[in-house]
Amino acid sequence: MPWKFDTLIVGAGFSGLVMAERLTNELGKTCLVVEKRDHIGGNAHDEYSEAGVLIHPYGPHYFRTNSDKIKDYLSRFTEWHEVKYQVSSFTEGRYWSFPVNLKTFEQLIDRDATEEEFIAWLEENKVDIPEPKNSEEVIISQTGWDLYKKFFEGYTLKQWKRHPKDLDASVCGRIPIRTNRDDRYLREEFQALPKHGYRVLFRNLVKACGDKLKILLNTDYREVMNEVEYDHMVFTGSIDEFYDYKHGRLPYRSLKFQFEDYMPDTLKEREAVSGKPGFWQPTLQVNYPNDYDFTRTVELKHATGQATENSTVVREFPDDYAPGKEPYYPIPAEDSAAIYKQYEELAKQEKNVTFCGRLATYRYYNMDQCVGMALKRFEDLAARQNATAGI
Ligand code: FAD
Ligand code: UDP
Repeated sequence: MPWKFDTLIVGAGFSGLVMAERLTNELGKTCLVVEKRDHIGGNAHDEYSEAGVLIHPYGPHYFRTNSDKIKDYLSRFTEWHEVKYQVSSFTEGRYWSFPVNLKTFEQLIDRDATEEEFIAWLEENKVDIPEPKNSEEVIISQTGWDLYKKFFEGYTLKQWKRHPKDLDASVCGRIPIRTNRDDRYLREEFQALPKHGYRVLFRNLVKACGDKLKILLNTDYREVMNEVEYDHMVFTGSIDEFYDYKHGRLPYRSLKFQFEDYMPDTLKEREAVSGKPGFWQPTLQVNYPNDYDFTRTVELKHATGQATENSTVVREFPDDYAPGKEPYYPIPAEDSAAIYKQYEELAKQEKNVTFCGRLATYRYYNMDQCVGMALKRFEDLAARQNATAGI
C-alpha cells in the first residue's frame, strides 16, 4: 500500500518547512517532507560544537529583514536576540573597519577625518558609471579603484573563482558603502538571531504542523517517489537536478568548513589580538580578501552572547562544486541566467509542482527572502484551491 499525502515536500529548509506549516495549518493538508540530510533546517541549521559553543555549521546565518510580514510570521515560532553584526577585513597585516565607512577612511589616511572629507575623497576617486552592470563597476563607481582592489577584487575571485566583471552587480552590491561611522555589515532594519537558536525555531515550526506532517530524514526524494501517492509536490532542491540536467548543469559554488575549538588557555593568549577576554578574534566575522585560501572566520559567540569560557571559530574555504558536494551558492551571472531561464520555462508548465527557495529558483536569496517566497507561493496555491476546489 503506498503512503498517501496531499503534498510531498522536498527539502526541510526554511522554504520547505514554511510551506509545510502553511499547508497543514491553513488548508488542512497532510504533508510529507523528505530531506536528504540527517536534520531539518537546511543551511540555516545550527548546533553545538564539541566545545559546547553554538555555531552555524553551514556558514554564518545572520537573520535580517525589512518586512514586518516576514518578521511577524517567524515571531510565532521564535523570540529574537537583536544583534549588531560586526565584521572586519584583514589585509596588509592589519584589521580594517568593514564595510567601508568613515573609520576605514581614517585607517587609510592614518588620522581622524570628517564625513565631508571622506565624501570629497570619494568624489575624486570614484569612477563615473551611471548604471553599473557588474560587480566591479558597482564598487568602483562608489569607492574608486584603491578600496575595490583592497577589499573586493581578491575576495570575489577567491569566493566565486570568477572576476567581479563576470558577476552581476547585485553580488558585490550586497555590501553597503557608508560615509558615516555606521559599521553594521547589513542594511536591513531588523537584524537579530532567533533567541534560542534556529533549531528551536524549526522545531516550533514543525510542532505547529501537528500530526498532519511527517518528516523523512536521510532520504533523497527519488528513493521514495514511487512509494508515495500525492496530489502536489513542493520542490526546494536544485532545479537542474529535478529535470535530470536536460538543459545542462547550472553552475554553483561549494564550500568547506573547518571547525576550531578554543579553550580558556588559548583564548587568554589571544586576548592581545581579540582585545576581548574569552574571544579569539576582534569581531564576529573577519574577512580575508587577499591572503590565504579561506575567505572568512566566524566566531558566533560574539553575536549569541553565549555564557561559555570556550569559543569555536568556523573557517570557510570556497570550493569548486561537483556532484555529491553541496551547491551552496547559485552564481548570479549572465551565462547561468541563460541556463536557468530554460529550466524556468519547464517549471512554468508544471501544474502539480511548486518550485520554491534558493536552489529551486536559482536565486542568491537570504533567509527572509526565501520565507517571503514560501508565503507568496502558499497564497498562490490557496487562491488556486479556492478557484478550483483542489490543488
Ligand atoms: P536550503 O536551506 O538549501 O534547504 C533545501 C533543503 O533541501 C536542504 O536541506 C537539502 O538537503 C534538501 N534537498 C535538496 N535536494 C534534495 C533531494 N533530492 N532530496 C531530499 N532533500 C533534498 N541567509 C541570510 O538571510 N543571512 C545570512 O547570513 C546567510 N548566510 C549564508 C551563508 C552561506 C554560506 C550560505 C550557503 C547561505 C547563507 N544564507 C544566508 C542563505 C540561506 O541559507 C538561504 O536563504 C536559506 O537557507 C534557503 O532556504 P531553502 O529552504 O530555500 O534552502
Ligand atoms: N565581498 C567582497 N569582500 C568582502 C565581503 C564581500 O568582495 O570583504 C563580495 C564577495 O563577492 C561576496 C559578496 O560581496 O561574495 C557578498 O558578500 P556577503 O558577505 O554578503 O556574502 P555571503 O554571506 O552571502 O557569502
